[in-house]
Amino acid sequence: MERATEPLDTGRSADGDRAPSFKPELPLQFSPLFDWPPNPRSIFSWLFGFPGYLWPWPILFGCLAFATWLLLPDLNQIEDVSPDWIYTLFAANFVMLVTFISLWHLLLYRLKFQGREYKYNPKWPDKPSGTRLFGSQLRENVFLTLFGAVPIWTAYVIIALLAHGISITHTIYLDDNTAYFILLLIVTPIWMDVHFYLTHRLLHWPPLFRLAHHIHHRNVNISPWSGLSMHPVEHLLFYSGTLLYIAIPSHPFHVLYYTISLSFAPALTHHGFGKVILSKGVRFNTDHYMHYMHHTYVNVNFGGSIVPLDRWFGSFHDGRSKRVRSSEDQIERS
Ligand SMILES: [Zn+2]
Ligand SMILES: [Zn+2]
Repeated sequence: MERATEPLDTGRSADGDRAPSFKPELPLQFSPLFDWPPNPRSIFSWLFGFPGYLWPWPILFGCLAFATWLLLPDLNQIEDVSPDWIYTLFAANFVMLVTFISLWHLLLYRLKFQGREYKYNPKWPDKPSGTRLFGSQLRENVFLTLFGAVPIWTAYVIIALLAHGISITHTIYLDDNTAYFILLLIVTPIWMDVHFYLTHRLLHWPPLFRLAHHIHHRNVNISPWSGLSMHPVEHLLFYSGTLLYIAIPSHPFHVLYYTISLSFAPALTHHGFGKVILSKGVRFNTDHYMHYMHHTYVNVNFGGSIVPLDRWFGSFHDGRSKRVRSSEDQIERS
């Protein structure tokens, strides 16, 4: 039977309470997509709710992928490594990512426009630290994101676009394969969830954890820039799901959409707030307590909330107790 470790640091509020200052409704739930028997009403509201599976984030990422696509030359011109389109791609990735993460950081951590309301950890991160690169969590996070994640993300996209440009990969088009083209976009978050779980479990293999993944886990009190703060070996694994779009018939737009989603989602899963207050009385659900718990307890909740892989493999922590339910427990309870 596997047990969770004690939390590394859940912060301490003014009254000495070690509990996080905000918890979402517990127990944590996975998406209804794999519930049995299926519940069409739940699936419908999960798909089309706001925020839901399809919007606003996937729509935003799709728009950014389309904007990037417009900046690139025609596919038949992407058949060699030309500095022109590579610089354009790198610059687009760099500017988009910096803008997106900076906005979250500015609003929640610099301007603190909603204070600590809905913040999981009552402490603010980023006290000076001699053990972090350049003396602080934030500087280390920004450095590893811009000089690790962005180049490796861009390199994967270059490889995938070249595979399409020189016809190693069978390129499909919206006009000719409409249903398949759209289906491949719709299942992208599911592929992200599955790939993330598998590579993340691999990164917790002790040699890989010591080599690479411990860098990401230095962020206990997470913030938007923590999401892509990884060792380059972890970046290589994190973006390796891009290879799927070389192996199967696809379009470069799928490559752009997948990699933009992959690069932007970590800011959403690491900003550390369960809700964002848009205006008085209007709150926007941004809950990612499941991954926050992974940073707190380390050996639970390796995956996302779409595909219940953590439940199937006995590593799920539903937020109510510190004990990890094993797969044997799941069988006993069912
Ligand atoms: Zn993380
Ligand atoms: Zn981990």
